[in-house]
Amino acid sequence: MDYYYFDLDEGLQKREKQKARELRNSQWWKRKRSQGVCHYCKSVHTPSELTMDHIVPIARGGKSVKNNVVPCCKSCNSKKKQMLPLEWGEYMEKLLLKEELQG
Ligand SMILES: [Zn+2]
Repeated sequence: MDYYYFDLDEGLQKREKQKARELRNSQWWKRKRSQGVCHYCKSVHTPSELTMDHIVPIARGGKSVKNNVVPCCKSCNSKKKQMLPLEWGEYMEKLLLKEELQG
């Protein structure tokens, strides 16, 4: 069975999307976003340029909870949409490696 194509109940997805909207209005999120740092590539942006991203997407069973949502810049967001989960994983590994090399 391929985990990534696991089909979720639509009602469940709707609930998580609604929760994401609520989370987006929370002080917690506003504070997090105001730091202006993309969770993935660590680049700095104005808060309005950062979007809320689910580390594990709702469509793949991710929840709208604090440890699954992160600020994400537009370029990472579009990369994540274009890439297969496997490719995205490899991209993340490269970013982490770069970080280690830079100390
Ligand atoms: Zn980024």
